[in-house]
Amino acid sequence: MAVENADINTVENLVIVGSGPAGYTAAIYAARANLNPLLITGFQDGGIPGGQLMTTTHVENFPGFPDGILGPDLMDRMKAQALRWGTRLVEADAEAIDLSQRPYRITAEGQVIETQAVILATGASANRLGLPSEGRFWSQGISACAICDGATPQFRGAPVAVVGGGDSACEEAVYLTKYGSHVHLIVRGDKLRASAAMADRVLANPAITVHWNRQVADALGSDWLEAIQLRDSSNGALEELAVKGLFYAIGHTPNTRLVAGQLELDAKGYLVTQPGRPETSKEGVYAAGDVADAEWRQGITAAGSGCQAALAAERWLSHHQLAVTVSREQVEPQEVGQPVRTAVSDEANYDPNALWQKGGYALRKLYHDSSKPLLVVYTSPTCGPCHVLKPQLKRVLDELGGRAQGVEIDIEADQEIAVQAGVTGTPTVQLFFNKELKQTFRGVKQRSTFKAAIEALIGVPA
Ligand SMILES: Cc1cc2nc3c(=O)[nH]c(=O)nc-3n(C[C@H](O)[C@H](O)[C@H](O)COP(=O)(O)OP(=O)(O)OC[C@H]3O[C@@H](n4cnc5c(N)ncnc54)[C@H](O)[C@@H]3O)c2cc1C
Repeated sequence: MAVENADINTVENLVIVGSGPAGYTAAIYAARANLNPLLITGFQDGGIPGGQLMTTTHVENFPGFPDGILGPDLMDRMKAQALRWGTRLVEADAEAIDLSQRPYRITAEGQVIETQAVILATGASANRLGLPSEGRFWSQGISACAICDGATPQFRGAPVAVVGGGDSACEEAVYLTKYGSHVHLIVRGDKLRASAAMADRVLANPAITVHWNRQVADALGSDWLEAIQLRDSSNGALEELAVKGLFYAIGHTPNTRLVAGQLELDAKGYLVTQPGRPETSKEGVYAAGDVADAEWRQGITAAGSGCQAALAAERWLSHHQLAVTVSREQVEPQEVGQPVRTAVSDEANYDPNALWQKGGYALRKLYHDSSKPLLVVYTSPTCGPCHVLKPQLKRVLDELGGRAQGVEIDIEADQEIAVQAGVTGTPTVQLFFNKELKQTFRGVKQRSTFKAAIEALIGVPA
Protein backbone atom coordinates (compact mmCIF):
# COMPACT_ATOMS: atom_id res chain seq x y z
CA MET A 1 0.00 0.00 0.00
CA ALA A 2 1.40 3.36 -1.03
CA VAL A 3 0.97 5.06 2.32
CA GLU A 4 4.22 6.91 2.88
CA ASN A 5 5.47 7.82 6.37
CA ALA A 6 2.18 6.75 7.94
CA ASP A 7 1.69 4.60 10.94
CA ILE A 8 -1.13 2.28 9.91
CA ASN A 9 -2.14 1.70 13.55
CA THR A 10 -2.89 5.35 14.26
CA VAL A 11 -6.19 7.01 13.56
CA GLU A 12 -5.90 9.56 10.76
CA ASN A 13 -7.07 13.11 11.33
CA LEU A 14 -8.60 13.44 7.91
CA VAL A 15 -8.99 11.18 4.90
CA ILE A 16 -9.96 12.77 1.59
CA VAL A 17 -11.51 10.46 -0.99
CA GLY A 18 -11.03 11.58 -4.61
CA SER A 19 -8.27 13.38 -6.48
CA GLY A 20 -10.10 15.88 -8.67
CA PRO A 21 -9.92 19.65 -8.10
CA ALA A 22 -12.06 19.30 -4.96
CA GLY A 23 -9.94 16.58 -3.38
CA TYR A 24 -6.56 18.16 -4.13
CA THR A 25 -7.68 21.61 -2.99
CA ALA A 26 -8.97 20.14 0.27
CA ALA A 27 -5.62 18.36 0.64
CA ILE A 28 -3.62 21.56 0.08
CA TYR A 29 -5.59 23.40 2.80
CA ALA A 30 -5.54 20.48 5.24
CA ALA A 31 -1.82 19.82 4.74
CA ARG A 32 -1.00 23.50 5.25
CA ALA A 33 -3.03 23.34 8.47
CA ASN A 34 -0.61 20.57 9.61
CA LEU A 35 -3.40 17.98 9.62
CA ASN A 36 -1.20 15.46 7.74
CA PRO A 37 -4.10 14.44 5.45
CA LEU A 38 -4.28 11.14 3.62
CA LEU A 39 -5.82 11.30 0.16
CA ILE A 40 -7.20 8.22 -1.59
CA THR A 41 -6.79 9.11 -5.25
CA GLY A 42 -9.12 6.56 -6.80
CA PHE A 43 -8.02 4.41 -9.67
CA GLN A 44 -10.83 3.10 -11.85
CA ASP A 45 -13.99 3.45 -9.77
CA GLY A 46 -15.85 6.64 -10.74
CA GLY A 47 -13.18 8.11 -12.97
CA ILE A 48 -9.41 8.25 -12.88
CA PRO A 49 -6.82 9.84 -10.59
CA GLY A 50 -6.96 13.57 -11.24
CA GLY A 51 -10.68 13.41 -12.01
CA GLN A 52 -12.70 14.62 -14.96
CA LEU A 53 -10.23 17.28 -16.08
CA MET A 54 -7.82 14.47 -16.97
CA THR A 55 -10.19 13.61 -19.79
CA THR A 56 -10.21 16.98 -21.48
CA THR A 57 -7.74 19.09 -23.42
CA HIS A 58 -7.72 22.86 -22.99
CA VAL A 59 -9.17 24.38 -19.83
CA GLU A 60 -9.67 28.04 -20.65
CA ASN A 61 -11.73 29.17 -17.67
CA PHE A 62 -9.69 28.22 -14.62
CA PRO A 63 -8.39 31.50 -13.15
CA GLY A 64 -4.66 32.05 -13.18
CA PHE A 65 -3.97 30.60 -16.61
CA PRO A 66 -4.61 33.44 -19.08
CA ASP A 67 -3.57 31.30 -22.05
CA GLY A 68 -5.44 28.24 -20.82
CA ILE A 69 -3.88 25.03 -19.59
CA LEU A 70 -4.29 21.39 -20.53
CA GLY A 71 -6.57 19.59 -18.07
CA PRO A 72 -3.98 16.91 -17.18
CA ASP A 73 -1.31 19.60 -16.65
CA LEU A 74 -3.63 21.53 -14.33
CA MET A 75 -4.26 18.40 -12.31
CA ASP A 76 -0.54 17.52 -12.22
CA ARG A 77 0.05 20.96 -10.71
CA MET A 78 -2.68 20.55 -8.09
CA LYS A 79 -1.25 17.16 -7.16
CA ALA A 80 2.29 18.56 -6.91
CA GLN A 81 1.03 21.38 -4.68
CA ALA A 82 -0.78 18.93 -2.39
CA LEU A 83 2.31 16.71 -2.17
CA ARG A 84 4.61 19.67 -1.57
CA TRP A 85 2.72 20.48 1.64
CA GLY A 86 2.91 16.90 2.84
CA THR A 87 -0.30 15.19 1.65
CA ARG A 88 0.12 11.43 1.67
CA LEU A 89 -1.46 9.43 -1.15
CA VAL A 90 -3.06 6.03 -1.38
CA GLU A 91 -3.15 5.34 -5.09
CA ALA A 92 -6.17 3.06 -5.14
CA ASP A 93 -9.95 3.06 -5.03
CA ALA A 94 -11.75 3.32 -1.71
CA GLU A 95 -13.53 -0.03 -1.69
CA ALA A 96 -15.74 0.47 1.37
CA ILE A 97 -16.62 3.35 3.68
CA ASP A 98 -18.09 2.60 7.10
CA LEU A 99 -19.60 5.66 8.76
CA SER A 100 -21.58 3.75 11.38
CA GLN A 101 -19.29 4.86 14.23
CA ARG A 102 -16.25 7.04 14.87
CA PRO A 103 -13.47 6.69 14.05
CA TYR A 104 -14.78 6.14 10.55
CA ARG A 105 -13.32 3.23 8.57
CA ILE A 106 -12.31 3.27 4.94
CA THR A 107 -11.02 0.21 3.11
CA ALA A 108 -8.54 0.66 0.28
CA GLU A 109 -6.28 -1.99 -1.23
CA GLY A 110 -7.60 -4.42 1.36
CA GLN A 111 -6.36 -2.27 4.30
CA VAL A 112 -8.66 -0.56 6.76
CA ILE A 113 -7.86 3.08 7.44
CA GLU A 114 -9.40 4.67 10.55
CA THR A 115 -10.06 8.38 10.53
CA GLN A 116 -11.71 11.07 12.61
CA ALA A 117 -12.94 13.13 9.66
CA VAL A 118 -13.68 12.39 6.01
CA ILE A 119 -14.01 14.61 2.95
CA LEU A 120 -15.88 12.94 0.12
CA ALA A 121 -14.75 14.38 -3.20
CA THR A 122 -15.56 11.49 -5.49
CA GLY A 123 -17.12 13.60 -8.24
CA ALA A 124 -19.85 12.69 -10.66
CA SER A 125 -19.38 10.81 -13.88
CA ALA A 126 -20.99 12.19 -17.02
CA ASN A 127 -23.23 9.52 -18.45
CA ARG A 128 -22.15 8.23 -21.83
CA LEU A 129 -24.18 6.67 -24.61
CA GLY A 130 -21.72 3.82 -25.17
CA LEU A 131 -21.70 4.24 -28.97
CA PRO A 132 -19.55 1.73 -30.87
CA SER A 133 -17.16 4.52 -31.99
CA GLU A 134 -17.39 6.62 -28.82
CA GLY A 135 -13.82 5.96 -27.65
CA ARG A 136 -12.42 6.91 -31.04
CA PHE A 137 -14.15 10.29 -31.18
CA TRP A 138 -13.98 11.19 -27.48
CA SER A 139 -12.38 14.66 -27.37
CA GLN A 140 -12.25 14.42 -31.20
CA GLY A 141 -15.77 15.75 -31.65
CA ILE A 142 -17.63 14.06 -28.80
CA SER A 143 -17.72 15.89 -25.48
CA ALA A 144 -19.64 15.69 -22.23
CA CYS A 145 -19.30 19.41 -21.51
CA ALA A 146 -20.57 22.06 -23.94
CA ILE A 147 -19.66 24.89 -21.58
CA CYS A 148 -16.09 23.64 -21.39
CA ASP A 149 -15.53 22.58 -24.99
CA GLY A 150 -18.06 24.59 -27.03
CA ALA A 151 -15.56 27.28 -28.03
CA THR A 152 -13.07 24.77 -29.43
CA PRO A 153 -12.00 25.96 -32.93
CA GLN A 154 -13.32 22.83 -34.62
CA PHE A 155 -16.87 23.64 -33.53
CA ARG A 156 -16.85 27.29 -34.60
CA GLY A 157 -19.08 27.87 -37.59
CA ALA A 158 -19.79 24.14 -37.88
CA PRO A 159 -23.00 22.18 -37.33
CA VAL A 160 -23.08 20.49 -33.93
CA ALA A 161 -25.52 18.24 -32.09
CA VAL A 162 -26.63 17.93 -28.49
CA VAL A 163 -28.23 14.74 -27.23
CA GLY A 164 -30.74 14.91 -24.40
CA GLY A 165 -34.11 16.43 -23.64
CA GLY A 166 -33.77 17.96 -20.18
CA ASP A 167 -32.80 21.39 -18.90
CA SER A 168 -29.07 20.80 -19.38
CA ALA A 169 -29.51 19.68 -22.97
CA CYS A 170 -31.66 22.74 -23.77
CA GLU A 171 -29.25 25.10 -22.03
CA GLU A 172 -26.30 23.60 -23.87
CA ALA A 173 -28.12 23.78 -27.21
CA VAL A 174 -28.81 27.48 -26.70
CA TYR A 175 -25.23 28.06 -25.50
CA LEU A 176 -23.77 26.33 -28.55
CA THR A 177 -25.62 28.61 -30.97
CA LYS A 178 -22.90 31.14 -30.05
CA TYR A 179 -20.32 28.95 -31.74
CA GLY A 180 -21.88 26.41 -34.11
CA SER A 181 -23.43 27.31 -37.48
CA HIS A 182 -26.49 25.30 -36.45
CA VAL A 183 -27.40 23.18 -33.43
CA HIS A 184 -29.29 19.90 -33.74
CA LEU A 185 -31.00 18.71 -30.56
CA ILE A 186 -31.50 14.95 -30.58
CA VAL A 187 -34.43 13.95 -28.39
CA ARG A 188 -35.36 10.32 -27.66
CA GLY A 189 -39.09 10.96 -27.21
CA ASP A 190 -41.65 13.37 -28.62
CA LYS A 191 -41.33 16.08 -25.99
CA LEU A 192 -38.72 17.95 -23.98
CA ARG A 193 -38.38 17.16 -20.27
CA ALA A 194 -36.97 20.64 -19.67
CA SER A 195 -38.84 23.40 -17.88
CA ALA A 196 -41.46 25.13 -20.05
CA ALA A 197 -39.47 28.37 -20.23
CA MET A 198 -36.33 26.57 -21.31
CA ALA A 199 -38.20 24.43 -23.84
CA ASP A 200 -39.82 27.56 -25.32
CA ARG A 201 -36.41 29.19 -25.74
CA VAL A 202 -35.19 26.18 -27.69
CA LEU A 203 -38.29 25.81 -29.85
CA ALA A 204 -38.31 29.53 -30.71
CA ASN A 205 -34.64 29.60 -31.69
CA PRO A 206 -34.17 29.39 -35.48
CA ALA A 207 -30.57 28.22 -34.98
CA ILE A 208 -31.80 25.02 -33.28
CA THR A 209 -33.53 22.09 -34.96
CA VAL A 210 -35.09 19.49 -32.69
CA HIS A 211 -35.00 15.92 -34.03
CA TRP A 212 -37.83 14.14 -32.20
CA ASN A 213 -37.94 10.39 -31.59
CA ARG A 214 -34.32 9.91 -32.58
CA GLN A 215 -31.54 8.02 -30.87
CA VAL A 216 -27.86 8.35 -31.72
CA ALA A 217 -26.72 4.98 -33.07
CA ASP A 218 -23.07 5.75 -33.85
CA ALA A 219 -20.46 8.40 -34.67
CA LEU A 220 -18.75 8.56 -38.05
CA GLY A 221 -15.63 10.30 -39.42
CA SER A 222 -11.90 9.85 -39.83
CA ASP A 223 -9.60 11.91 -37.56
CA TRP A 224 -12.45 14.08 -36.27
CA LEU A 225 -16.18 13.50 -36.01
CA GLU A 226 -17.95 14.20 -39.32
CA ALA A 227 -21.46 12.81 -38.87
CA ILE A 228 -23.72 10.93 -36.52
CA GLN A 229 -26.03 8.09 -37.36
CA LEU A 230 -29.55 8.53 -36.01
CA ARG A 231 -32.14 5.82 -35.47
CA ASP A 232 -35.83 6.70 -35.76
CA SER A 233 -37.32 5.32 -32.51
CA SER A 234 -40.68 4.63 -34.19
CA ASN A 235 -39.52 2.45 -37.12
CA GLY A 236 -35.77 1.81 -36.62
CA ALA A 237 -34.80 3.59 -39.87
CA LEU A 238 -31.24 4.96 -39.92
CA GLU A 239 -30.20 8.36 -41.24
CA GLU A 240 -26.97 10.37 -41.21
CA LEU A 241 -26.60 13.90 -39.90
CA ALA A 242 -23.43 15.86 -40.73
CA VAL A 243 -22.03 17.42 -37.52
CA LYS A 244 -18.57 18.30 -36.21
CA GLY A 245 -19.57 18.06 -32.58
CA LEU A 246 -21.73 15.77 -30.46
CA PHE A 247 -22.38 16.96 -26.91
CA TYR A 248 -23.79 14.58 -24.34
CA ALA A 249 -26.28 16.08 -21.94
CA ILE A 250 -27.82 12.87 -20.68
CA GLY A 251 -27.14 13.41 -17.02
CA HIS A 252 -24.41 12.69 -14.52
CA THR A 253 -24.15 9.91 -11.99
CA PRO A 254 -22.69 11.07 -8.68
CA ASN A 255 -20.17 8.65 -7.21
CA THR A 256 -21.99 8.05 -3.93
CA ARG A 257 -22.45 4.27 -4.11
CA LEU A 258 -20.13 3.68 -1.13
CA VAL A 259 -22.08 5.94 1.22
CA ALA A 260 -25.64 5.26 0.02
CA GLY A 261 -27.78 4.39 3.04
CA GLN A 262 -25.29 6.06 5.41
CA LEU A 263 -25.59 9.71 4.37
CA GLU A 264 -28.51 11.76 3.12
CA LEU A 265 -28.66 11.77 -0.69
CA ASP A 266 -31.04 13.69 -2.94
CA ALA A 267 -33.35 12.03 -5.45
CA LYS A 268 -30.56 11.92 -8.06
CA GLY A 269 -28.05 10.41 -5.64
CA TYR A 270 -26.03 13.59 -4.91
CA LEU A 271 -24.81 14.13 -1.34
CA VAL A 272 -27.00 16.54 0.57
CA THR A 273 -25.11 19.18 2.55
CA GLN A 274 -26.19 22.08 4.73
CA PRO A 275 -27.14 24.94 2.35
CA GLY A 276 -23.98 26.65 1.10
CA ARG A 277 -21.83 24.57 3.43
CA PRO A 278 -19.84 21.33 3.17
CA GLU A 279 -21.29 19.47 6.20
CA THR A 280 -23.15 16.26 5.28
CA SER A 281 -25.76 14.56 7.43
CA LYS A 282 -23.04 12.97 9.59
CA GLU A 283 -20.72 14.83 11.94
CA GLY A 284 -17.14 15.01 10.72
CA VAL A 285 -18.06 13.98 7.18
CA TYR A 286 -17.84 16.67 4.51
CA ALA A 287 -18.63 16.81 0.81
CA ALA A 288 -16.75 18.76 -1.83
CA GLY A 289 -17.14 19.22 -5.57
CA ASP A 290 -19.43 17.58 -8.08
CA VAL A 291 -20.45 14.78 -5.71
CA ALA A 292 -22.68 17.31 -3.95
CA ASP A 293 -23.28 19.69 -6.85
CA ALA A 294 -25.80 18.82 -9.54
CA GLU A 295 -25.86 22.39 -10.76
CA TRP A 296 -22.50 24.15 -11.31
CA ARG A 297 -20.08 21.26 -11.91
CA GLN A 298 -16.96 23.24 -12.80
CA GLY A 299 -13.31 22.90 -11.83
CA ILE A 300 -13.28 26.18 -9.97
CA THR A 301 -16.47 25.52 -8.01
CA ALA A 302 -15.15 22.08 -7.07
CA ALA A 303 -11.85 23.61 -5.91
CA GLY A 304 -13.73 26.27 -3.91
CA SER A 305 -15.83 23.71 -2.11
CA GLY A 306 -12.71 21.61 -1.43
CA CYS A 307 -11.31 24.62 0.39
CA GLN A 308 -14.54 25.02 2.40
CA ALA A 309 -14.58 21.33 3.34
CA ALA A 310 -10.97 21.38 4.57
CA LEU A 311 -11.51 24.52 6.63
CA ALA A 312 -14.71 23.11 8.13
CA ALA A 313 -12.99 19.81 8.93
CA GLU A 314 -10.08 21.64 10.55
CA ARG A 315 -12.44 23.67 12.76
CA TRP A 316 -14.43 20.60 13.75
CA LEU A 317 -11.31 18.57 14.57
CA SER A 318 -9.81 21.32 16.68
CA HIS A 319 -13.14 22.14 18.39
CA HIS A 320 -13.39 18.50 19.51
CA GLN A 321 -9.65 18.32 20.20
CA LEU A 322 -9.36 15.37 17.86
CA ALA A 323 -6.55 16.58 15.63
CA VAL A 324 -3.03 15.30 16.11
CA THR A 325 -1.14 17.90 14.12
CA VAL A 326 2.32 17.43 12.71
CA SER A 327 5.15 19.89 12.65
CA ARG A 328 7.09 20.37 9.46
CA GLU A 329 10.85 20.15 9.40
CA GLN A 330 10.99 22.95 6.86
CA VAL A 331 8.57 25.81 7.38
CA GLU A 332 8.72 26.50 3.66
CA PRO A 333 8.85 23.19 1.79
CA GLN A 334 11.08 22.84 -1.24
CA GLU A 335 9.63 24.33 -4.42
CA VAL A 336 8.21 21.88 -6.92
CA GLY A 337 9.84 23.51 -9.96
CA GLN A 338 9.11 22.60 -13.55
CA PRO A 339 8.22 18.97 -14.31
CA VAL A 340 11.16 17.01 -15.69
CA ARG A 341 10.35 15.69 -19.17
CA THR A 342 12.21 12.68 -20.59
CA ALA A 343 14.28 13.76 -23.58
CA VAL A 344 13.79 11.86 -26.84
CA SER A 345 16.72 9.46 -27.20
CA ASP A 346 19.06 9.69 -30.17
CA GLU A 347 22.49 8.31 -31.04
CA ALA A 348 24.16 10.74 -28.64
CA ASN A 349 22.11 10.20 -25.47
CA TYR A 350 20.76 6.65 -25.90
CA ASP A 351 21.57 4.52 -22.86
CA PRO A 352 21.24 0.73 -23.29
CA ASN A 353 20.75 0.30 -19.53
CA ALA A 354 18.29 3.13 -18.84
CA LEU A 355 15.03 2.02 -17.26
CA TRP A 356 12.92 4.52 -19.21
CA GLN A 357 13.56 6.25 -22.54
CA LYS A 358 11.55 7.96 -25.21
CA GLY A 359 11.17 7.78 -28.96
CA GLY A 360 11.64 5.55 -32.00
CA TYR A 361 15.45 5.39 -31.79
CA ALA A 362 15.39 3.88 -28.29
CA LEU A 363 12.59 1.53 -29.29
CA ARG A 364 14.49 0.15 -32.29
CA LYS A 365 17.73 -0.26 -30.33
CA LEU A 366 16.12 -1.94 -27.34
CA TYR A 367 13.89 -4.15 -29.47
CA HIS A 368 16.93 -5.54 -31.31
CA ASP A 369 19.62 -5.49 -28.62
CA SER A 370 17.99 -5.88 -25.21
CA SER A 371 17.55 -9.31 -23.69
CA LYS A 372 15.09 -7.96 -21.10
CA PRO A 373 11.28 -7.61 -21.28
CA LEU A 374 10.42 -4.30 -22.91
CA LEU A 375 7.31 -2.27 -22.04
CA VAL A 376 6.36 0.09 -24.87
CA VAL A 377 3.77 2.69 -23.92
CA TYR A 378 2.06 4.61 -26.71
CA THR A 379 0.89 8.04 -25.54
CA SER A 380 -0.41 11.28 -26.97
CA PRO A 381 0.28 14.76 -25.57
CA THR A 382 -3.27 15.51 -24.43
CA CYS A 383 -4.14 12.05 -23.12
CA GLY A 384 -4.98 12.34 -19.40
CA PRO A 385 -4.99 8.61 -18.70
CA CYS A 386 -1.44 8.51 -20.15
CA HIS A 387 -0.38 10.96 -17.41
CA VAL A 388 -1.85 8.53 -14.90
CA LEU A 389 -0.26 5.43 -16.38
CA LYS A 390 3.33 6.56 -17.06
CA PRO A 391 4.41 7.04 -13.42
CA GLN A 392 2.84 3.67 -12.60
CA LEU A 393 4.91 1.95 -15.29
CA LYS A 394 8.07 3.71 -14.16
CA ARG A 395 7.39 2.51 -10.64
CA VAL A 396 7.00 -1.09 -11.85
CA LEU A 397 10.35 -0.85 -13.65
CA ASP A 398 11.98 0.63 -10.53
CA GLU A 399 10.57 -2.16 -8.40
CA LEU A 400 11.94 -4.73 -10.85
CA GLY A 401 15.40 -3.20 -10.35
CA GLY A 402 16.56 -3.15 -13.96
CA ARG A 403 15.21 -6.56 -14.99
CA ALA A 404 12.91 -4.89 -17.55
CA GLN A 405 12.99 -1.64 -19.52
CA GLY A 406 10.46 0.84 -20.88
CA VAL A 407 10.07 3.14 -23.88
CA GLU A 408 7.49 5.83 -24.47
CA ILE A 409 6.28 6.49 -28.01
CA ASP A 410 4.37 9.72 -28.60
CA ILE A 411 2.03 8.69 -31.40
CA GLU A 412 1.84 12.23 -32.73
CA ALA A 413 5.61 12.47 -33.11
CA ASP A 414 6.08 8.84 -34.22
CA GLN A 415 2.97 8.25 -36.29
CA GLU A 416 4.53 5.55 -38.47
CA ILE A 417 5.51 3.45 -35.46
CA ALA A 418 1.99 3.77 -34.06
CA VAL A 419 0.48 2.65 -37.38
CA GLN A 420 2.88 -0.30 -37.61
CA ALA A 421 2.04 -1.29 -34.04
CA GLY A 422 -1.69 -1.12 -34.78
CA VAL A 423 -2.33 1.44 -32.05
CA THR A 424 -5.92 2.73 -32.15
CA GLY A 425 -6.00 4.68 -28.91
CA THR A 426 -3.87 5.87 -26.03
CA PRO A 427 -2.62 4.72 -23.69
CA THR A 428 -1.72 1.36 -25.21
CA VAL A 429 1.07 -0.74 -23.72
CA GLN A 430 2.81 -3.57 -25.53
CA LEU A 431 5.07 -6.01 -23.74
CA PHE A 432 7.88 -7.48 -25.86
CA PHE A 433 10.37 -10.18 -24.96
CA ASN A 434 13.03 -11.62 -27.29
CA LYS A 435 11.60 -9.61 -30.23
CA GLU A 436 8.14 -11.10 -29.73
CA LEU A 437 4.99 -9.25 -28.78
CA LYS A 438 3.80 -11.05 -25.65
CA GLN A 439 0.83 -8.95 -24.51
CA THR A 440 -1.09 -5.75 -25.32
CA PHE A 441 -2.87 -3.67 -22.64
CA ARG A 442 -5.34 -0.93 -23.55
CA GLY A 443 -6.19 1.85 -21.11
CA VAL A 444 -5.06 2.27 -17.51
CA LYS A 445 -4.35 -0.96 -15.63
CA GLN A 446 -3.11 -1.67 -12.11
CA ARG A 447 0.65 -1.76 -11.54
CA SER A 448 0.32 -5.37 -10.37
CA THR A 449 -0.98 -6.38 -13.83
CA PHE A 450 2.18 -5.19 -15.58
CA LYS A 451 4.45 -6.51 -12.87
CA ALA A 452 2.90 -9.96 -12.98
CA ALA A 453 3.14 -10.09 -16.80
CA ILE A 454 6.85 -9.19 -16.71
CA GLU A 455 7.63 -11.51 -13.81
CA ALA A 456 5.96 -14.38 -15.68
CA LEU A 457 8.41 -13.80 -18.56
CA ILE A 458 11.53 -13.67 -16.40
CA GLY A 459 10.52 -16.64 -14.29
CA VAL A 460 9.73 -14.99 -10.95
CA PRO A 461 7.36 -17.33 -9.07
CA ALA A 462 3.91 -15.79 -8.43
C1 LIG B 1 -14.83 16.47 -20.79
C2 LIG B 1 -14.96 17.46 -19.67
C3 LIG B 1 -14.42 18.71 -19.81
C4 LIG B 1 -14.50 19.63 -18.77
N1 LIG B 1 -13.94 20.87 -18.95
C5 LIG B 1 -14.00 21.77 -17.94
C6 LIG B 1 -13.42 23.06 -18.10
O1 LIG B 1 -12.89 23.41 -19.16
N2 LIG B 1 -13.48 23.91 -17.03
C7 LIG B 1 -14.09 23.57 -15.86
O2 LIG B 1 -14.07 24.37 -14.92
N3 LIG B 1 -14.68 22.37 -15.70
C8 LIG B 1 -14.66 21.48 -16.72
N4 LIG B 1 -15.27 20.25 -16.55
C9 LIG B 1 -15.95 19.96 -15.30
C10 LIG B 1 -14.90 19.59 -14.20
O3 LIG B 1 -14.05 18.61 -14.71
C11 LIG B 1 -15.57 19.09 -12.96
O4 LIG B 1 -16.53 20.01 -12.51
C12 LIG B 1 -14.54 18.87 -11.84
O5 LIG B 1 -13.53 18.00 -12.28
C13 LIG B 1 -15.20 18.31 -10.59
O6 LIG B 1 -14.19 18.10 -9.66
P1 LIG B 1 -14.36 17.07 -8.46
O7 LIG B 1 -13.07 17.12 -7.73
O8 LIG B 1 -15.60 17.35 -7.74
O9 LIG B 1 -14.58 15.64 -9.14
P2 LIG B 1 -13.83 14.84 -10.28
O10 LIG B 1 -12.96 15.68 -11.11
O11 LIG B 1 -14.89 14.03 -10.95
O12 LIG B 1 -12.89 13.85 -9.46
C14 LIG B 1 -13.45 12.81 -8.72
C15 LIG B 1 -12.33 11.98 -8.18
O13 LIG B 1 -12.86 10.99 -7.31
C16 LIG B 1 -12.21 9.77 -7.55
N5 LIG B 1 -13.06 8.67 -7.09
C17 LIG B 1 -14.29 8.31 -7.52
N6 LIG B 1 -14.67 7.20 -6.87
C18 LIG B 1 -13.68 6.89 -5.99
C19 LIG B 1 -13.46 5.87 -5.04
N7 LIG B 1 -14.34 4.87 -4.84
N8 LIG B 1 -12.31 5.86 -4.33
C20 LIG B 1 -11.39 6.84 -4.49
N9 LIG B 1 -11.53 7.84 -5.38
C21 LIG B 1 -12.66 7.84 -6.13
C22 LIG B 1 -11.94 9.77 -9.04
O14 LIG B 1 -10.88 8.87 -9.37
C23 LIG B 1 -11.52 11.22 -9.23
O15 LIG B 1 -10.16 11.34 -8.93
C24 LIG B 1 -15.19 19.31 -17.57
C25 LIG B 1 -15.74 18.03 -17.42
C26 LIG B 1 -15.63 17.11 -18.45
C27 LIG B 1 -16.21 15.73 -18.27
